[in-house]
Amino acid sequence: LAKQKEELINLHKDCFEYFREQLYLRKNIEAVKYIIKRRIAKDTAKRFGLGFCPEKNDLYDRLSQKYSKEIIDLSGIFLERNGKNYCRFEGRLIFPIFDTMNRVIAFGGRIISDASAAPKYMNSPDTLIFSKSRILYGLNIAKQSKENEFVVVEGYMDVIALHQEGIDNAVGVLGTALTQDHSFLLRRYKNEVVLCLDSDEAGKKAAIRSADILYQNGLMVRVMELEGAKDPDEYIKRFGKDAFLLKKQNSMFVIDYKVKELKNQYDLTKSDQKFRFVREYFEKILIPISNEVERQEYIKKLSDLTGVNENVISKEFSKTTQK
Ligand code: ATP
Ligand code: MN
Ligand code: MN
Ligand code: MN
Repeated sequence: LAKQKEELINLHKDCFEYFREQLYLRKNIEAVKYIIKRRIAKDTAKRFGLGFCPEKNDLYDRLSQKYSKEIIDLSGIFLERNGKNYCRFEGRLIFPIFDTMNRVIAFGGRIISDASAAPKYMNSPDTLIFSKSRILYGLNIAKQSKENEFVVVEGYMDVIALHQEGIDNAVGVLGTALTQDHSFLLRRYKNEVVLCLDSDEAGKKAAIRSADILYQNGLMVRVMELEGAKDPDEYIKRFGKDAFLLKKQNSMFVIDYKVKELKNQYDLTKSDQKFRFVREYFEKILIPISNEVERQEYIKKLSDLTGVNENVISKEFSKTTQK
């Protein structure tokens, strides 16, 4: 197994070098054009090791000269069609995925023509050396940042755009849900996280779920909201670095964010809605808080919001939790 892992690492390195060379060939000018269109600078592309996999390529045959069929199959890089092996990243811009020791252990690929019907992104499947739930894109770079927090975003382009603007503590969860393993990974280096997910409904839902996981694992979590852009990449390109940093500075502590989202769902001037709000507040805000001092603070807040006496809330809350 150790031997297989080592070979897989070597194979990924070979593929990485191949993809990178391809990007700068004249015949693949479309890929460079795409990078320019996304406003990724040359040195940024270099720093992230971006590459390209041409539609027509001899990657499989090249690798066959050096690696067994078994290893090549285990890499997950190739798919079989009519008895022929082809690279799953054909025609795609390549994002190498590095582990914290700076080894390439997987790839992501994006189509470069928005007219294409193919899925926008394609990632390596989980393998002996890669598990999506245990990797954060860009952590190999961000772990060295002097900031005392991480900025967690959704995608490759988000990470790259933020780093390009000097926000060197950005990492990406690559579309998958944030897991407990991600929390452990982050906590190895820093104990604060600012979540900056996409501003669509999916992103907002994911922010609450992810924030809970991070908070339960002992990280101090804040949530950033981007108005006027669908994700951090678009935001920073449209409004610039200073606007982004200001938003980050004004980001809310996770519990306050949850209170705000919850409050928006109810009209607290109506009694029946107020009662339901209190019940949900117990459920979603007070119960997940494990620290008594913090909980006291949010009982006071509930009292302020509803006009119900703090002691009454405390008494009712302890009744609920004793059931
Ligand atoms: P772009 O800006 O290039 O259009 P995006 O990063 O904003 O893309 P999202 O749809 O927000 O795209 O997805 C966020 C991340 O989720 C992507 O960067 C990618 O890592 C992952 N992802 C998205 N679609 C897929 C897919 N079909 N398969 C696997 N991963 C995906
Ligand atoms: Mn998204
Ligand atoms: Mn985007
Ligand atoms: Mn996005």
